Amino acid sequence: MDASKLSFLKRGRAVLATAEAELEKANSRPPPIYRFYLPPGGETDIIILDGSFDEAVGLYEHHIQDANGRWGNYVSCLRENCSFCRIHGESYYVIFLTILNLQEYVKKSGEVVPFLKMLLPIKLRLLPQFLVISSSAMKKAGTLRGACVTVKRDSLFQTTWRFSKVIGEKMLIKSYGRKNVFPFKYSEVFTKWAK
Ligand SMILES: [Zn+2]
Repeated sequence: MDASKLSFLKRGRAVLATAEAELEKANSRPPPIYRFYLPPGGETDIIILDGSFDEAVGLYEHHIQDANGRWGNYVSCLRENCSFCRIHGESYYVIFLTILNLQEYVKKSGEVVPFLKMLLPIKLRLLPQFLVISSSAMKKAGTLRGACVTVKRDSLFQTTWRFSKVIGEKMLIKSYGRKNVFPFKYSEVFTKWAK
């Protein structure tokens, strides 16, 4: 075989040097942004980090299947000249807030993560329940920020949101750390997603 065709193989010092460079790249990458999803039968506590809906973002999006027929791929819809509209039909409107999901989660490495900052998508059918939570929090504390909510997904189409209390700013920072308790910079998040 022509040796030049094997030029993709790393050899000698490059074997480890490339691994080290890739490792450094991976470690310096910002953590991925997760989208909240609760499977049917699931229950978890969340804390809302935005002060109100005025601080949230709303957009149209498409939920599409991948080549293997699996759902879970979301694409922001540009509304005009959107190629996904042509292929997948009309998009739907969704509002995003930032939350802390207090469900413990175990990484592949075995590391236990006690909570995770995530994007919470609120589709129109969930909005009425969510507006009740929002007005309860506003009445109690004048803000949505720090609102503790228990989310229970009874079935595929039935999710219950139960508001309990609002945690103050100091407690929020003390309990979860300053770097974890501020909403995502949405313009950066969705620029990345729009690519
Ligand atoms: Zn579209």
